[in-house]
Amino acid sequence: MTESHSGGCHCGRLRYRFDAPLRDIAHCHCSICRRTTGGIVTTWITVPLSSFHWIQGSAAAYASSATCTRYFCSHCGCNLALFTTQSPDTLDVTVATLDDVEQALADRHIWTESRLSWLTLDGHLPEEQQEVIF
Ligand SMILES: [Zn+2]
Ligand SMILES: [Zn+2]
Repeated sequence: MTESHSGGCHCGRLRYRFDAPLRDIAHCHCSICRRTTGGIVTTWITVPLSSFHWIQGSAAAYASSATCTRYFCSHCGCNLALFTTQSPDTLDVTVATLDDVEQALADRHIWTESRLSWLTLDGHLPEEQQEVIF
């Protein structure tokens, strides 16, 4: 059976599930993530788009750039997912919203050219100055 993981927003109106393992997880340091999530770093897991399902509620969408749409809860404001036309077969999901976030270990940093100078986090992981799309 395929590994399955679920998560949701703070208020509980949005719930999702994806049938994919907890890998391909990156700490993103870009300024767009900072301004859209309000966090100093946003950690994303990339999953096959076809493996992802909203199981409760309907997410609001925000186009944060010409290629990128971010999905969030219109009630509590939580950011849950990101789609980019640069990788049309995948969806990025915020690991912080996973029910089993403790098991979701990052494997790299991305967009470190925008990293805050005072931020110390997972210093042993490899870094990509921007983002290498596989
Ligand atoms: Zn919510
Ligand atoms: Zn980012």
